[in-house]
Amino acid sequence: MNRVYNFSPGPSMLPLPVLRRAAAEMEDYAGCGMSVMEMSHRSPVFEQIIGQTQQLLRQVLAIPDHYKVLFVQGGASQQFSAVPLNLMTHSGKADYVLSGQFSLKAYEEACRFGDVRVLASSKQDNFSFIPSFSPADVRPDADYVHICYNNTIFGSRFPAIPDTGPVPLVADLSSCILSEPIDISRFGLVYAGAQKNMAPAGLTVVIVREDLLGPSQPRTPLMLDYQTAVNSGSMYNTPPCYPIYIAMLVLEWIRDEIGGLEQMAAINRRKAQKLYAALDQSSLFRPTVRPDSRSIMNVTFVTGAKDLDARFCQEAEAAGLVNLKGHRVVGGMRASIYNAMPEDGIDALIAFMQAFEARHKTTQEAST
Ligand SMILES: *Cc1c(COP(=O)(O)O)cnc(C)c1O
Repeated sequence: MNRVYNFSPGPSMLPLPVLRRAAAEMEDYAGCGMSVMEMSHRSPVFEQIIGQTQQLLRQVLAIPDHYKVLFVQGGASQQFSAVPLNLMTHSGKADYVLSGQFSLKAYEEACRFGDVRVLASSKQDNFSFIPSFSPADVRPDADYVHICYNNTIFGSRFPAIPDTGPVPLVADLSSCILSEPIDISRFGLVYAGAQKNMAPAGLTVVIVREDLLGPSQPRTPLMLDYQTAVNSGSMYNTPPCYPIYIAMLVLEWIRDEIGGLEQMAAINRRKAQKLYAALDQSSLFRPTVRPDSRSIMNVTFVTGAKDLDARFCQEAEAAGLVNLKGHRVVGGMRASIYNAMPEDGIDALIAFMQAFEARHKTTQEAST
């Protein structure tokens, strides 16, 4: 077996102990003689799995009791529609912060359902930082403010949870959920696709304050209405059973092997700091995001020359450091270093970058 260091932005690495346990339980889960992939979602065994997953998520993320946890499908992108359909129901207004590609998509989709305004944006600077705003900038009658907390493509993140006064804050946490403790009580609703830091693709988690649940907009499709998931315990129809099971194993790994989110955060910060320190010291590579807005999950950087970026990615791939190519709208490189990326992977990347830089210097000196 030859595992690579996979820097993919998502779907992305899963913890090796989780993969091994899933493999061991593949043919016979807990003595029931079948795989979790093969069992009825109405069976007592699966009821136990989904219940346990939800309980673990509540425990690990310290979710207050007055929040509902919903397991849905359709990815984070489906929440771009579900959020306005379910929450833009009083004034019909919402304020959006544009800090990257996904927040832009969320904004464009929300515009179809109400009076949507841009609260702050860093679009004019190619989203190289997180735009700031004050609570006074928020329309007081807005139904919510939407942000994307960690910008997967641009490699930026909010330095802190922004203050929106009494207006509920909604956040896309797809690429940072479970990476560090986060005070859920500061949000009205958060959502996340599972495939970055939680499970394989197919599961989306929605955590919503109970008092925000009410009648959705007229003609909201049944499967996009949060009440459908609330009333059925996320089992109106067949849920994504296998991703839910893997999420359970990932949550157990965080709780039992890592020791919880404080420890997870310490590891993640150390990993990111190492990588940024190496980038800041380099005379070839430079980070693309302003220091106060840097993500600890997605680290974007460039050499400044497209052909050199391409050569770096190609040679890294051959050395077992894969999926480092940046998103097409940013170019350059992106190292996605989610929970499951071991610190050894960061060390290997830094060593490779330094060797590449030294080789590049020698070639340049030889040609001058
Ligand atoms: C990946 C990602 C999305 C899109 O997720 P899908 O599950 O593919 O719809 C949305 N927002 C953020 C922040 C992401 O990282």
